[in-house]
Amino acid sequence: MSSETLLLTSAHLLRPGAAAIQNCAVVVTDGVISWVGERGDLPAEFLTAQHLDLGELTLLPGLIDAHVHLSLGAEPAGDRAVSQADAVDDDAEFALMFRNARELVEAGVTTARDLGCRGYLALRVRDEISAGIAPGPRILAAGPPLTAPQGHCWFLGGEVNGAEEARTLVSAHIAAGVDVIKVMATGGFLTPGTTPWDASFETATLEAIVTESHRLGRRVAAHCHGIEGIRRALAAGVDTLEHCSFVEEGGAKAFDSDLADAIVASGAYVSPTMNADARQMMADGWQPPVVELWRRGARVIASTDAGIPGTPHGDYVLALESLVVAGMPDSEVLIAATVNAAEALDLAEVTGRIAVGYSADLIAVQGDPSLDIRVLNLLKFVMARGRIVRTVN
Ligand SMILES: [Zn+2]
Repeated sequence: MSSETLLLTSAHLLRPGAAAIQNCAVVVTDGVISWVGERGDLPAEFLTAQHLDLGELTLLPGLIDAHVHLSLGAEPAGDRAVSQADAVDDDAEFALMFRNARELVEAGVTTARDLGCRGYLALRVRDEISAGIAPGPRILAAGPPLTAPQGHCWFLGGEVNGAEEARTLVSAHIAAGVDVIKVMATGGFLTPGTTPWDASFETATLEAIVTESHRLGRRVAAHCHGIEGIRRALAAGVDTLEHCSFVEEGGAKAFDSDLADAIVASGAYVSPTMNADARQMMADGWQPPVVELWRRGARVIASTDAGIPGTPHGDYVLALESLVVAGMPDSEVLIAATVNAAEALDLAEVTGRIAVGYSADLIAVQGDPSLDIRVLNLLKFVMARGRIVRTVN
């Protein structure tokens, strides 16, 4: 088998959470990083490889969005209800999903976790991108989220009543090939008839979901807004807390210090889905709980809920900026978007770092995003699993 080797060189290599390398070289062989270090130390065998010099640019790991919906079209913010997806035929939905996947990867997102679609459509999108048929990030797909009868996003097809039904659907999802299990532990803002502050499942049902998922080697992401829902999801041992907004009756925001400390102690990841909406709410005086959680030591990961009204997939960097505006340092936001998110998604040995044996998920920008995250808006180069998506002129 012939192998394909590419040598990349650039002035800087940024390793979130570790020391940068100046005058760096990265060798990519068949989509995997096979060497990385200072250019002067490059082994002679790579000197003859095909060479792309990125000049003054800064190379860094490809970015991760831990919460997207490929099948949602990010309608204008005025349209607040998520449409019932079964009104759309499969062909139209696939076209939208592939378009959204392309938008993500062109924004530097080389891994995205799809936390809910109708049926198993995202699995086909995942597989076609993986096979190189269409451009896009590595996709981790959940399929229809488990939800209570008539609960948040019930129309996607994941309604379960009680622990036994939940366990059965978890194993059916995994048999169908999902990468992660998503459960709606509270109501949502976008499904009429549900309220985000009400817990949707008994803790025992959530425990059954987590136990069965973990037994079959899958992690669990829990949608949770209200404090009681967050508390139950945490008690059940879910891996990532989606939104984690501490919303109470009527939409009031009520930070709970004891629960925050319990989240930190558990090691669960906080996936705050910061986006343009959050930005607007902050402008109106809201202090997102994610910052206080981070200050207390919680493991934060970058996520956007891309696809919901007003949050297009291409706006990923805007979401990172929202975390900075909220009070997280740029360097910490970069860790949330790379190393931490990779760990949360069970990809700690696969992506999120530029190191030997890791997937060649790389981006390059002018400037240093660990000092100013906004430079990520001017992407010069994107490589996803060794495939060049965007390159310098
Ligand atoms: Zn979502």
